[in-house]
Amino acid sequence: MQMLSTRGAAAVSPSMAILRGLAPDGGLYVPAQFPAFAEADLLALVPMSYQERAYAVLSRFLPDFEEAELRAAIAGAYGTGFDCEAVAPLVRVGSRAHALELWHGPTLAFKDMALQLLPHLLTLSGKKHGETREVFILVATSGDTGKAALEGFLDVPGTRCCVFYPKDGVSQAQRLQMVTTGGSNTHVIAVEGNFDDAQTGVKRIFSDADFAREMDAQGRVLSSANSINFGRLVPQIVYYFSAYADLLREGAIAVGDAVNFCVPTGNFGDILAADYARKAGLPVGRLICASNENNVLTDFIRTGVYDISSRAFYKTISPSMDILISSNLERLLFDLSGCDGERIAELMAQLKAQCRYEIDGEMLRLMQSRYAAGFVDEDGIRAEIARSFAEDGYLMDTHTAVASAVLRDYVASTGDTTPAVIVSTASPYKFGASVLEAIAGSEAVRGKDDFACCEALSALTDTKEPDQIAKLPSLPIRHSAVCQKDAMAQAVLDAVK
Ligand SMILES: *Cc1c(COP(=O)(O)O)cnc(C)c1O
Repeated sequence: MQMLSTRGAAAVSPSMAILRGLAPDGGLYVPAQFPAFAEADLLALVPMSYQERAYAVLSRFLPDFEEAELRAAIAGAYGTGFDCEAVAPLVRVGSRAHALELWHGPTLAFKDMALQLLPHLLTLSGKKHGETREVFILVATSGDTGKAALEGFLDVPGTRCCVFYPKDGVSQAQRLQMVTTGGSNTHVIAVEGNFDDAQTGVKRIFSDADFAREMDAQGRVLSSANSINFGRLVPQIVYYFSAYADLLREGAIAVGDAVNFCVPTGNFGDILAADYARKAGLPVGRLICASNENNVLTDFIRTGVYDISSRAFYKTISPSMDILISSNLERLLFDLSGCDGERIAELMAQLKAQCRYEIDGEMLRLMQSRYAAGFVDEDGIRAEIARSFAEDGYLMDTHTAVASAVLRDYVASTGDTTPAVIVSTASPYKFGASVLEAIAGSEAVRGKDDFACCEALSALTDTKEPDQIAKLPSLPIRHSAVCQKDAMAQAVLDAVK
């Protein structure tokens, strides 16, 4: 199986695509062909563990990895770091849907599903292509990705991970999660600035030839762990197959029956992985793209016009979905265009120059045959959390609630009774203050820090606060570096001295 660039560059192997991250023409790597899972293959997944399912799926997408390599990588990724044997359990929510819980890993959010495996795929890919230098991962984070990357790369031989976060732009719990990270190959640096400053600084370092030379002289090569890397996308395909196998095991569906997935969406990586599962033979009905008030994707899927030229950016209580440019959408466009790299390069150039593009009628019809979309505002999110807990006894976080509310709207407006799965992307305790406020009102959070809110949430809902949160205030601080936004490159060099 070969990988193509969405902008037309020459095809490469999956391991090379993972090693490079971005294609040399600025495009994203996508599979040139998709494996074909038959009904018998789906049935074979039913009795398997998550790790075995992961091997069954990944081996078909990553044929240039040896069986032993892939099995060892999977065992390393989905082992003791997860708090339940199922890894990605499917649980019933009331009578209307299931939730696919992707937050049982070390950092309590779905980023772990990919970032626990990516470091292994990256070091294996390096070996295959004779890369002997240490792979140096640079990340700018607005909160969740940084900790997930640090945990994923923690003490993985041949790698080093450096995370920049905006000094006053992350929550108290998010900051503590990062600055208490152990290991001998992790660095965490606060930037005097906001998330855009941190992101711009990291991009500048990536295009700084002097910096690359200095790293090379130190025996290091820069790489990225963000969601444009195919190595982050491919682990996410697995859990859609796993959810389907669990529905079969439960007798909720028969093999071949379609299932809808409703996905809380930001960068479009999670939902695209479901589309890739469908292309590989999983019977997926409709993919429902759920957004918060930053609803550029809702408009795009409904009209075919992607327009951020006059759009305000809202800071919401589902911050991991606060995004205006969804980078993985480029992979969907490529697919809808019939793999027309030139057309995609044009659309992306329009987006850059005019902050807007429009797809043609044929692409729009094709997209709408697979996708539906909806969004919900802040009050709607809080109401859904309260309703779900009261009616279904299911406690959900602010991102999952977006999907849950959008799914209800979708079913009400379409009458589509296809079995549906809500993709649940974070533990309610990761956003404990907002969840507590949704259930108990604003009085209940007044004067409380994140940790007091989580304790109150636990008492009120009779659910267990995860150890990762409860123990945070007592862990030693290991990273205290701070830098100016125009001195980030020097800060990296100082950190690795
Ligand atoms: C990253 C994230 C999302 C959005 O996922 P995308 O792949 O970027 O669309 C949703 N919820 C949570 C909790 C996240 O961390």
